[in-house]
Amino acid sequence: MKKRKYYLSENEIPEFYYNIQADMPKMMQPPLHPATLQPIAPVDLEPLFPMELIKQEVSLERYIPVPDEVHHLYSIYRPSPLIRATELERALDTPAHIYYKYEGVSPSGSHKTNTAIAQAYYNKAEGVKKIVTETGAGQWGSALSFACNHFGLQLQVFMVKVSYFQKPYRKTYMNAMNASVVPSPSTLTVSGKKVLTDNPESPGSLGIAISEAVEIAAQNEDTRYSLGSVLNHVLLHQTIIGLEAIRQMEMAGEMPDLVIGCFGGGSNFAGLAFPFLRLNLKAGGKMRFIAVEPESCPKLTRGTFRYDFGDTAGLTPLIPMYTLGHQFVPPEIHAGGLRYHGAGAIISQLLQDKLIEATAVGQSRSFDAGLLFARTEGIIPAPESSHAIATVVAEALKAREEGISRTILFNLSGHGHYDMGAFERFLKNELPDYSISDEEIAKSLAMSEVPVN
Ligand SMILES: *Cc1c(COP(=O)(O)O)cnc(C)c1O
Repeated sequence: MKKRKYYLSENEIPEFYYNIQADMPKMMQPPLHPATLQPIAPVDLEPLFPMELIKQEVSLERYIPVPDEVHHLYSIYRPSPLIRATELERALDTPAHIYYKYEGVSPSGSHKTNTAIAQAYYNKAEGVKKIVTETGAGQWGSALSFACNHFGLQLQVFMVKVSYFQKPYRKTYMNAMNASVVPSPSTLTVSGKKVLTDNPESPGSLGIAISEAVEIAAQNEDTRYSLGSVLNHVLLHQTIIGLEAIRQMEMAGEMPDLVIGCFGGGSNFAGLAFPFLRLNLKAGGKMRFIAVEPESCPKLTRGTFRYDFGDTAGLTPLIPMYTLGHQFVPPEIHAGGLRYHGAGAIISQLLQDKLIEATAVGQSRSFDAGLLFARTEGIIPAPESSHAIATVVAEALKAREEGISRTILFNLSGHGHYDMGAFERFLKNELPDYSISDEEIAKSLAMSEVPVN
């Protein structure tokens, strides 16, 4: 029997994060202040983030140390295992070797815990008392609730309304960790009230929930805001995944030809891909990197590259990004973590420069692949991660057709144990596919026009 699982020991948890900004061939345009349209200064971000995270956002240091307390808390679940999906390979009858890095082993069941712990730590260290955030499907809120509770910080979570009702046990998890959770759009903020006035039935979106959280944080001296994806410092913390995976692939005696991750705002994809991408940039590697987004929210494959807001109300800095327009409200797919209108600045620049690729997958194809994975490997994947699996399956079948072996590595960003309702609907053939027309995208982009570019 071939070896199947590659573990590192506790004392091999990486001691540094990898900052790809040190190695990017072309730098991004700077973020702009939403009012002045001038490049933002670090002090502009102080009402929202602790200084250490602001510094990481713009740092050009290649390696940034993991603080001791963060490293210690990681040891609950890190290093995460790298597993060869031998049973999936067999089912697909493919010559491809398929490996996955399993981030579902974290306390809240997804990779988001990696940045949640770091962010809670830096806030605590700078005397912050309370954090406000948004959550889509609930994974981010869960991860942050665990981390905030550990460091003695209060947490308020705006949870996208459609998920609040689709995934009630996510809310229970957060409540168990002492967090307070409100469905968004809510009547607690000006931006929430505005959305409700325009559309009382709004299902909510990450963009709306971010506006609400930012608004509360900006108004309170002892409160900061925290984001679970998109921003440079979030991608930075997630590189712990890829740094471990490089060592584990070495243990397995091969390197990937293809690295694949699902894509919401970019953090699990970047976390796995960036340390490998460094080998392309600096050591002449030829690996391919594929970000997989849902067809219903296709910013990378059908969006436009321009300055846009990170939220619906236009309270955040303007970021150069691939976007569907900050007014875009995605259809109510079950992969709630992928319902975001834009991509982060780093990812957008790398895609522009053709250093990474993107593809889109529909809801039913992703659930098909997720179910195949569950039946072969025994883990029910998160609906988000199932998008990555759909592309893995397509690439493995292509390898079979071409009769060429390939090594594929993907990020199993989380388990789907809170998503049984969605899998149940899929098994009953009740999950629709959503397609977005070019007109809808054009309309959203026109509505979301900002006074730069
Ligand atoms: C949030 C989430 C995603 C999408 O966010 P990224 O920042 O793009 O990684 C993907 N998978 C899981 C399990 C998530 O919780």
